[in-house]
Amino acid sequence: MANRHLLPRNTEAYGGDFPLCPWCKEPPYSLALPLDAVLAHLQRGFDHWVERSDDGSTDADIVCDCPSCAKPFAVALKSSGVALLPVRTAADLRLMEGRP
Ligand SMILES: [Zn+2]
Repeated sequence: MANRHLLPRNTEAYGGDFPLCPWCKEPPYSLALPLDAVLAHLQRGFDHWVERSDDGSTDADIVCDCPSCAKPFAVALKSSGVALLPVRTAADLRLMEGRP
């Protein structure tokens, strides 16, 4: 896979710090999480670790678009804080595979 397809690093925030978008590094203050996604995440266990593959697909229940740059990331809520994992949209994956 070419370097231009590499994903940025995850961002994490613990101890009450506010996380930064892994794509644009802005704090997504106005991000709203869908309650059904939060409940699905919690149902799997508060400290269930969210998986993210190298191709950018994820098993995360909570996937949001950054309010600043509109790129998608998965939200992993933990009892100690939060991690934001950059992911790919279905459209991104199709584009990278050369499919319409
Ligand atoms: Zn962003």
